[in-house]
Amino acid sequence: MVAAAEQVVASLREECATPATRLDELAAAMAGEMAAGLAEEGGSKIKMIVSYVDNLPNGSEEGLFYALDLGGTNFRVLRVQLAGKEKRVVKRESREVSIPPHLMSSNSSELFGFIASALTKFVADEGHNALFNDRQRELGFTFSFPVRQTSITSGTLIKWTKAFSIDDAVGEDVVAELQTAMEKQGLDMRVSALINDTVGTLAAGSYYDEDVVVGVILGTGSNAAYLEKASAIPKLEGDIPKSGKMIFEKLISGMYLGEIVRRVLLKITLQSSIFGNIDKTKLRTHFILRTPDISAMHHDGTPDLRIVAEKLADNLKITDTSLETRKMVVEICDIVTRRSARLAAAGIVGILRKIGRGNPGDKHKSVVAIDGGLYEHYTEFRQCLESTLTELLGEEASKSVTVKLTNDGSGLGAALIAAAHSQY
Ligand code: ADP
Ligand code: MG
Repeated sequence: MVAAAEQVVASLREECATPATRLDELAAAMAGEMAAGLAEEGGSKIKMIVSYVDNLPNGSEEGLFYALDLGGTNFRVLRVQLAGKEKRVVKRESREVSIPPHLMSSNSSELFGFIASALTKFVADEGHNALFNDRQRELGFTFSFPVRQTSITSGTLIKWTKAFSIDDAVGEDVVAELQTAMEKQGLDMRVSALINDTVGTLAAGSYYDEDVVVGVILGTGSNAAYLEKASAIPKLEGDIPKSGKMIFEKLISGMYLGEIVRRVLLKITLQSSIFGNIDKTKLRTHFILRTPDISAMHHDGTPDLRIVAEKLADNLKITDTSLETRKMVVEICDIVTRRSARLAAAGIVGILRKIGRGNPGDKHKSVVAIDGGLYEHYTEFRQCLESTLTELLGEEASKSVTVKLTNDGSGLGAALIAAAHSQY
């Protein structure tokens, strides 16, 4: 019976193997697909979406700017005071508001009405600011759903993802919806930039470090934005914005890792009796095991793997496990997470290859700004991603590449891009 469980783990190990040669091929293939996606719309399975950000903030921005970050179950409003090259961000305030579940499937005017009302309250405690006697307040809007962007200040919703489904918003311009809702609240504010979280991370990263060339999100989902030469985007006609966004997801992000481990554990209970005769109701429930849970098990430093035992019992009703069995569970977390971190690293190398960075003898420094709970909190994941980058780029060449945690790129980044696109 132990042999049957070990068999499941052995085949998982084999299926999740990511030898460096495979990853090198993957990075090269990705660079090629990215070029194809830039050549024509729909030219590649990798969606190369052009952002309309043509000014990244450079530090000289001054003034008070707002941001709105919408993309999960909470949204956040931010107020940022910028004071130019020397002082940079002198004040930063934010408020997080959870969206009542019924609004996520109501209608567009109710959702945007709720958001605009929260924003209006937040603006009210700004205090008197003479600056806005003859100026409009300006807002950067991070909207992390698939959008067909048509300019820096407009974009239509392609479809909702995550917990949202509001039919009448699909196909509509989300900036216009927000703008209308703000007007109804009597809030005199202009949306000066519509972005997503990857572009925000790229902007926030490059605001502090001009060598940042890629912004990556490794949170609930995974995605990236990078700086591309306009001349390398044949499908662009007319406008020449500078940054290309791309999307990659191979079940590597935080949304999936816990779920993959659950499926492996379910398979083991079906093929062996290693977990005893347990009630499988929980184990059969999709997404019941979350990535923070597998992260906690993976990092369990207690000699008897007490945290693993607790997580298995609390989340999956798997009780009375032996130490050997708990070690096996840790190994499963390790296999699933290493695969994910190594694929993420290969994706980053693919982007670097596309822009000709991180090669031996490269005189440019290239910084990759990363935001997201998976990268920030899952230490094993982060370390594996970083060591895989070195492995793929080579010891010498990897010295020109740095990875940097960029907290809250989606919030701060939106305010910074709003500032860089200010009408004043
Ligand atoms: P989002 O991507 O929704 O904007 P975050 O960047 O905060 O939000 O990422 C949240 C995701 O990060 C969670 O869905 C989870 O998968 C992952 N995560 C959060 N905390 C941890 C943790 N301690 N260990 C591993 N993963 C975590
Ligand atoms: Mg986020």
